[in-house]
Amino acid sequence: MENCIFCQIIAGDIPSSKVYEDDKVIAFLDITQTTTGHTLLIPKEHVRNVLDMDNTIAQDVFSRLPKVARAIQKATGAAGMNIINNNEKIAGQTVFHAHIHLVPRFNENDGIDIKYTTHEPDFQVLGKLAEQIAKEVV
Ligand code: 5GP
Ligand code: ZN
Repeated sequence: MENCIFCQIIAGDIPSSKVYEDDKVIAFLDITQTTTGHTLLIPKEHVRNVLDMDNTIAQDVFSRLPKVARAIQKATGAAGMNIINNNEKIAGQTVFHAHIHLVPRFNENDGIDIKYTTHEPDFQVLGKLAEQIAKEVV
């Protein structure tokens, strides 16, 4: 897609440090290197984000995720890894070509702090919400 920076990377018009490529996906080092080895895995077909993926693209991307993750872990000696995906601006998406962040973790003082606030659960509310969501799964 024109004007898409990741499509330009796929086309080779913009250089990238590639770590994996096949006919469906590429993975390359994120320019920001949040931690050493921070990598982006993207489908070659332009799609905005996970909310827009069909099963085929989802399969293309997510079936490659474990092997790319393991390769990063082996090469960097990471103790663990956060696998993160931002969908739409409100969730922090800045490049609108779907991508999965693989962020290797080396120690607890690396400045990354991903926290999910916990609330006292209201199981009736949870039950209703789960039902509403379940109805929408197609
Ligand atoms: P988002 O915020 O959309 O989830 O993540 C976009 C990511 O793309 C950011 O982490 C940013 O560093 C990375 N990025 C943006 N432009 C380029 C680029 O030209 N090359 C590479 N390798 N990464 C990029
Ligand atoms: Zn694109």
